[in-house]
Amino acid sequence: MKFISLSSGSSGNCYYIQSGGAKILIDAGVSTRYIKNALKQFDISIEEIDAVFITHEHTDHTYGVEVLSRNYNIPVFSNQLTTDNIISRNHIKRKDLFNSFDNEINIKDLNIHTFAVNHDAVNPVGYVINDRDTKFSVITDTGCITKDIYQEVKGSKAIVLESNHDIEMLQNGPYHYALKQRILSNVGHLSNDAAGKTAVKLINDGTVEIILGHISSTNNTYDMVFQSICYYLSANNMNIGQDVIIDIAKKCETSTMHIF
Ligand SMILES: [Zn+2]
Ligand SMILES: [Zn+2]
Repeated sequence: MKFISLSSGSSGNCYYIQSGGAKILIDAGVSTRYIKNALKQFDISIEEIDAVFITHEHTDHTYGVEVLSRNYNIPVFSNQLTTDNIISRNHIKRKDLFNSFDNEINIKDLNIHTFAVNHDAVNPVGYVINDRDTKFSVITDTGCITKDIYQEVKGSKAIVLESNHDIEMLQNGPYHYALKQRILSNVGHLSNDAAGKTAVKLINDGTVEIILGHISSTNNTYDMVFQSICYYLSANNMNIGQDVIIDIAKKCETSTMHIF
């Protein structure tokens, strides 16, 4: 399986996953032009994309979805409540490209299923994607990792895991009180500390690559994300490079291509 983060964070999320002949995107929160140029860096043509899967209706996950689907005839998949919300809010003209699915679908060599996450959207989900030999998961935009959520992603070889904010930086930062409370709540976003604790559990359960994403530009820095994960790993005698590969997915920047 191959994975590229095309962009990650509150200014726009888009991830590329490929296995065999299947090429999909998770979320399209950046412009179609951006996605096209980002894929071109890896000699991938936007016309080759089989489908786009949406986690939830927030703009940083759906900004580019209408133009992308319309211009390139790419089907869009999300659950019924999310699909209805996207169509009504964005006045989508090509409704035929927007599909609802319950929680599982196959696209060529990929089996894709969803699970509920804790976030303030109509029906937000994370994704588990399996090909013949690899389990890969995406979990961002969740206020906490419940036991049920953990069970879904447990055993993933690789995972995109939210590491949104440093709690202290958020508390002392410029956001108004209500927004701070929203982010810190169990339907907000995952902190560096929560990501670190989850990472340790995942590594103990066999995960070998963790891509930390959806990092806030106001309440976090890439350095703090790295320092925090290093702290949790070293406290548990885990070494980056030996026990796990850590990458940080950045905003408006492509990651390297991960192959796992
Ligand atoms: Zn988001
Ligand atoms: Zn969101």
